[in-house]
Amino acid sequence: MKRFFIFTVVFAMIAGGLAPITGGRMPSALAAEETLTFPAKLPVHPRLFLTVQREKEIKEQISTDVFLKKLVSELIKKADRAKKDKLTEYVIPDGKRLLGSSRRSLERTSVLAFAYRMTGDKTYADAALAEMLAVCRFKDWNPSHYLDTGEMATAVGIGYDWLYDFIPVKERNEIKDAVVKHALNTGLPIYEKNNWWTKSNNNWNEVCNAGLTIGALAVADEEPQLAEKIVRYAVKSLPNGLSAYKPDGAYPEGPVYWGYGASFTGLMLKVLDDVFKNDFGLLKAEGLNITGDYYMSVIGPNYRNFNYADAGDTSDSSPMMFALSTFYNRPDYAVWIRNFLERMNRYQHGRLAVFHAIWYNPAKDDKGSSPPLAQKFTGIQDVCTMRTEWNNPDAAFLGFKGGNNRANHGHLDIGSFVYEVNGVRWAVDLGTDDYNMPGYFGKQRWDYFRLNNKSHNTLVIGDKIQNPTADCKIVSLRTGKNAGISDNIVAFASVDMTDAYKEQVKTAQRFATLLKDGTVLIQDTVIGAKEPVRWGMMTRADIKLDGKTAILSQDGKKIRLEMTTLYDSEKFEIVSAKPPTKAERQNEGYQMLTIVSKPKGENEKVHIAVTMKPEK
Ligand SMILES: [Zn+2]
Repeated sequence: MKRFFIFTVVFAMIAGGLAPITGGRMPSALAAEETLTFPAKLPVHPRLFLTVQREKEIKEQISTDVFLKKLVSELIKKADRAKKDKLTEYVIPDGKRLLGSSRRSLERTSVLAFAYRMTGDKTYADAALAEMLAVCRFKDWNPSHYLDTGEMATAVGIGYDWLYDFIPVKERNEIKDAVVKHALNTGLPIYEKNNWWTKSNNNWNEVCNAGLTIGALAVADEEPQLAEKIVRYAVKSLPNGLSAYKPDGAYPEGPVYWGYGASFTGLMLKVLDDVFKNDFGLLKAEGLNITGDYYMSVIGPNYRNFNYADAGDTSDSSPMMFALSTFYNRPDYAVWIRNFLERMNRYQHGRLAVFHAIWYNPAKDDKGSSPPLAQKFTGIQDVCTMRTEWNNPDAAFLGFKGGNNRANHGHLDIGSFVYEVNGVRWAVDLGTDDYNMPGYFGKQRWDYFRLNNKSHNTLVIGDKIQNPTADCKIVSLRTGKNAGISDNIVAFASVDMTDAYKEQVKTAQRFATLLKDGTVLIQDTVIGAKEPVRWGMMTRADIKLDGKTAILSQDGKKIRLEMTTLYDSEKFEIVSAKPPTKAERQNEGYQMLTIVSKPKGENEKVHIAVTMKPEK
């Protein structure tokens, strides 16, 4: 039990030993979870996702649907490669996580079993069975880090169900016993004791509940009582995870963890629908119906994330978009994910790739209008994005955030922005560092360069970090549709950053504006700073400085930056992106463009304005 406690602390705690911000965010009870009982007779295998009916539909659909035909053929090519790969082994490379093995096994088993069901070629099923037996013979599925168990239960549950008729009785029993021993029997005491992730509002809750539900429903004929208990507990627990989407679908942990958490929520909702034809009220979770709007919004014109919090900029082509498109009748989500797969050639990408085919929605979006050019999302982390156009890779894109520095996986990135135009991401967020560095999720978190404000595109005052408990809102977002702003403006937004610089300033405000020609304007007004105020922007571009002008060049494109402060002597400078220690990622190829503005007296204002204009 001690190890569960450790992970409770690790993931709930932000530096300084603070409690997670779940207080007051628990959803009200959802309907029917108390009465969840299994029907007298469960649907026959395969009952999870790829039912006989769905298999038949896909086979029919590919004769007329060019997109689905391409998708299925790419998945079969992926299975051809997977067939030749070696079996997954029990490895815990960092001394903590089996997760790499769990994910590999989920990817192999699902694509091999899918290819068998599509083609009838037994060599795929043989390979999937060998893979399942290999992981079932592991000594455990590493329940001390329960995500590993959750993903493994997903892998084996799916394989067992999809290949049920193919698997000989002896092996069936062996696999069923492993699901019970490694997953259900380790999951039940966690639910009974209400351990941390059963109550948490982050990706762990979604992944672990989905994995255990899939494992339980796969073996529900053989272990009806245990399976029923697990599913009942999972359905009761999931609303805690779904409370992260309140009130308008934004994800506090950033877009990469959306791809993780939301995809597993998709698995959970779909599997309940397949088996029970019931969502047990879960689809009513506040914000879930529009969380696809958030996801489309935080992904830029070239499918790069606005990567705040622990997130890289590579976007996840999550099949959840197909699931959401069907659950909430949103054909635009289906169109968006189809475009993504096609343009970025992502048909084979990711361990849940087969779910694009299984949840495929051919719906056309007849409404003919794009989403708004600027959108703001609230909740635990306030974020907004603006773009000059949808569906144009050269469009300008600005992501800008307020937020809460205590958010799970959060960085000290209040006020930070990313900027992209003409296909180049000029202002970047460096993203995550190595999770295994000491205190990454604990006391040392804010010592790390990539995690604190010194590497982010925001202010640093007197070399100090932001207030780790700050909560800053996007005070306003105004778009062209609102009265009172000029015709050439797409949108502007402001964040009151005062709390982020508590005890360092009296007030700090940042305004971000995007013009229709792709120009961005960032303006800061700081009052009462006791020490110099540093403006910073991290970039991969080459920088040519000329006093108050900087020309950035990358990939044959250019932007021109002009700065204004209250003092003539202040100018652009370049600062190294090297972190203070060798253990951290070294950020080669990056530099930080800075301006340091010094207040002349106790109550003096600091004003910094920077325009960034794409050059023709
Ligand atoms: Zn960051």
